Amino acid sequence: MLCHSRSRAVPGEGDPKTEAVFVGQGPGENEDASGRPFVGRAGDLLNIFLEAAGILRKEVWITNVTRCLPPDGRLPLAVEIKACIPYLLEEIDIIKPVVVCPLGNMALHCFMGKSEKIKDVRGKPFPQRSYFLFPMLHPAAVLRRLDLHSHAQADFLNLRKFLDSKPKLIPPPGQESLF
Ligand code: URA
Repeated sequence: MLCHSRSRAVPGEGDPKTEAVFVGQGPGENEDASGRPFVGRAGDLLNIFLEAAGILRKEVWITNVTRCLPPDGRLPLAVEIKACIPYLLEEIDIIKPVVVCPLGNMALHCFMGKSEKIKDVRGKPFPQRSYFLFPMLHPAAVLRRLDLHSHAQADFLNLRKFLDSKPKLIPPPGQESLF
């Protein structure tokens, strides 16, 4: 169980009345030490993307699929991810955002089929459940591949425009009561 290897659990943080929830993979060492999500280099870059799009970090919700650093910095196992997903979905249910932005493939696969790739679906909205899914590149991936920087920045600007358009989900016929 991941809770045995962590120093601190890393819950989501931000404004619970927000329109936008960002979902990362899970805490790294900086997050494990501080108990806060996205505070290392990837977090710094996330802050830059948000700021450039005119989005304040304190006005969104930032969370992760897993909330504990796995031992020896390994990736979370499928069984550990599966155990954490209900907490993430409940967090989203409580916040009721307009958009949920999975950052990278691991978070994406909690919402879309495993055959989907972030590079193919990033930067555009997909109606899902009671919100729009708006997948984005993970900032850590952008740190590894600087050629992705302009794509990631453009996606945040698109998100800003999308939110400004006050999008509404149109329920399928007969499902009005679900929305
Ligand atoms: N920090 C987080 O909180 N999540 C990630 O996915 C990466 C860094």
